[in-house]
Amino acid sequence: MLEVSNLNKFYGKNHAVNDLNFTVASGEILCLLGANGAGKTTTLNMLLGFIKPDSGSAILDGLDMYYQRSACREQMMYIPENVHLYPSFTAIENIAYLAELAKMRVSDGEIKDVLIRTGITENQLDRKVGSFSKGMRQKVAIAFALLKHAKLVLMDEPTSGLDPVATQEFIDVVNTIKERGTAVLIVTHDLLCAHQLSDHIGIMSQGQLKQFIKNEQLTLPDLTEHYFNQFS
Ligand code: ATP
Repeated sequence: MLEVSNLNKFYGKNHAVNDLNFTVASGEILCLLGANGAGKTTTLNMLLGFIKPDSGSAILDGLDMYYQRSACREQMMYIPENVHLYPSFTAIENIAYLAELAKMRVSDGEIKDVLIRTGITENQLDRKVGSFSKGMRQKVAIAFALLKHAKLVLMDEPTSGLDPVATQEFIDVVNTIKERGTAVLIVTHDLLCAHQLSDHIGIMSQGQLKQFIKNEQLTLPDLTEHYFNQFS
């Protein structure tokens, strides 16, 4: 589904992303961990087509994510750290508006259905989202990803600032999109969330992917040790 090959980005002499190689299959979750400045955001920006790689490629289902970025955007969903919605619109109205912009034909019933599946309750459906918490706004964004059958969902720091209950709800909702066959890539500093959620964990340091580990083989103390080893 997502195939990153020999991806490189320099800022002057700074090799911000250094020969990155990884894949995320359909229905898999990859969490990319790494210290500040490790190159995670630069990687994400290349996958989003915001910045041009100096060499290498990121391919989503056969499409180059920089050179064919418009076509790729139709197939993916980016969920930033803080999801921006129209505060004076309800959750349903926000999604209807996004669907209209994406030229999708959807009924209110379909929109309600995806919102309910992400954990928005019946009585929250018609509330203006200006009062929604970060976790609830994320659910609305994930509902839109479900509605558009996104092949890839990219998320940046989704659990920062979420309390433990909201974090658990987030994990449950992401598992819903995984079950639908979506590939999910999450950039995070949250080791616990990465451990609970991912199929694979990538640890970046100084632009390089130092480790790419299958999560099922890991305990949380193992992951913590792998993470801190990058500094020693
Ligand atoms: P954080 O966790 O703090 O967001 P990160 O892992 O996302 O860090 P990046 O933001 O990708 O790291 O930065 C990787 C390297 O590239 C750093 O050395 C950073 O200073 C540098 N860098 C990032 N953006 C730019 C830019 N626009 N111009 C110059 N250097 C940049």
